[in-house]
Amino acid sequence: MPTIFSRIINGEIPSYKIAEDEHYFAFLDINPIKKGHTLVIPKVETDYIFELDDQTLSGLMLFAKKTGLAIEKAVPCKRIGIAVMGMEVPHAHIHLVPLENEGDLNFKNPKLKFTPEEMNTIAEDIRSNFIL
Ligand code: AMP
Repeated sequence: MPTIFSRIINGEIPSYKIAEDEHYFAFLDINPIKKGHTLVIPKVETDYIFELDDQTLSGLMLFAKKTGLAIEKAVPCKRIGIAVMGMEVPHAHIHLVPLENEGDLNFKNPKLKFTPEEMNTIAEDIRSNFIL
């Protein structure tokens, strides 16, 4: 059975998409810990990030860099934090989280609530700064 992230890639489940290319896809986390919290995933379905082959893993990081640079321009922050957990969804993904201070990269922090309109605006702002 495909993962929820594969179903997002295939368009079966909607997402606040930021960018995609042949191998990678970036979209807003639906339960953000900070405004602009984004997930970057490979299109290949692999659970554990360190099970990705070297080329896919390094390409994922480069796609995360492009995405992070776009987030930085769209969302006021000091820098973009990177985290990998994969405790919930068995499809490798990198969390990109805009940071003001070190406490911002804490997944026990309360999740933020944005309306669909606000999420669309955040995604559009990031998208418009994304350079493929
Ligand atoms: P983890 O696997 O522990 O890295 O956490 C999975 C992350 O995926 C969580 O931050 C969820 O909020 C996020 N997530 C789960 N389902 C969706 C979805 N349909 N769209 C966007 N983000 C999601």
